[in-house]
Amino acid sequence: MSVILVTGGSGLVGKALQHVINTEPVGSRFGRRPDEQWVFVSSSEADLRNAEEARLLFEKYKPTHVIHLAAIVGGVYINMKNNLNFLRDNILINDNVLHTAYQTKVQKVISCLSTCVFPDKVTYPLDETKIHLGPPHDSNFGYSYAKRLVDVQNRAYKDQFGCNFTAAIPTSIFGPYDNFELGSAHVIPALIHKCYLAQKNGTPLVIGGSGKPLRQFIYSYDLAKLFIWQLREYDDVEPIILSVAEDQEVSIKQLAEAIVKAMHFKGVCLFDTNQAEGQFRKPASNAKLMTLIGDFEFTPFEKALDETVQWFLRHYEGART
Ligand code: NDP
Repeated sequence: MSVILVTGGSGLVGKALQHVINTEPVGSRFGRRPDEQWVFVSSSEADLRNAEEARLLFEKYKPTHVIHLAAIVGGVYINMKNNLNFLRDNILINDNVLHTAYQTKVQKVISCLSTCVFPDKVTYPLDETKIHLGPPHDSNFGYSYAKRLVDVQNRAYKDQFGCNFTAAIPTSIFGPYDNFELGSAHVIPALIHKCYLAQKNGTPLVIGGSGKPLRQFIYSYDLAKLFIWQLREYDDVEPIILSVAEDQEVSIKQLAEAIVKAMHFKGVCLFDTNQAEGQFRKPASNAKLMTLIGDFEFTPFEKALDETVQWFLRHYEGART
């Protein structure tokens, strides 16, 4: 019997994994296998910044595999003001998870990085060979360096102890169960929430920045399937980018228009160019993924966005707002 422990199991990606594992047919490509037990944990069960709590968690569930999603995560504004917290807390969480996994002989760990790990000044598209070629963008260097270190640790655990630890690098993620709280949300949930409030209050929808930056978004339910594939079929310390193709970039303006359409917003949209907007673009190549996985169909962006908006409207009271 395999026991798959998912840290960060209550977050955007953790909930998507729960959804896929519970809705895909048992024994199918992305469905639960009869010999698998999936355990989803949140910070309420163990604060993974604390080594003893991490140890007790692993002792309780005795995982054979770990998908490590737990992290202190946030949009550009909260990152800019809290680089030290993002650095320290994420280093502690990652170190405790990886070291406890090593000590308890976990067979495989997949940790979750982010395209923030890549250098600010680099040739595009990003690919798995470019992570350490220069400093990351200033705005979120704390989060970025903490995530980069996971790749360094994975290699060290493999070198010294032969551990099967690896990492996934998703591009910007969105979907049901996201964090829609305006002070800390990423761009899609923030704009959905702002649009909802503008609609309700009869005020303009104010979009931070010029609307020109481009982003590659992945639907959390698609990403969950890719994690399941990686868990079962990818055994290499080299990280792998989990993303839609690089020609699927969307500008913030296009994104705002799609949200306005999905929410039937009839008011005025304004761009506030005084607000920071992060990197202009950072297209990532999914060539390695597509070569290895063979066929995989991503949900069309507008459909995924519409499903997310409908989820938000249905769950406004219970969502992270
Ligand atoms: P969320 O913020 O939605 O969820 C974070 C999860 O981590 C929650 O389950 C939270 O538990 C848990 N967590 C936070 N702090 C601790 C702690 N001290 N101890 C234990 N658990 C903790 O994050 P996402 O689902 O968006 O992110 C999942 C992974 O994907 C992260 O590693 C993130 O860095 C990465 N990522 C995210 C992107 C995005 O666009 N969202 C883009 C690229 C990568 P609780 O609910 O109890 O707080």
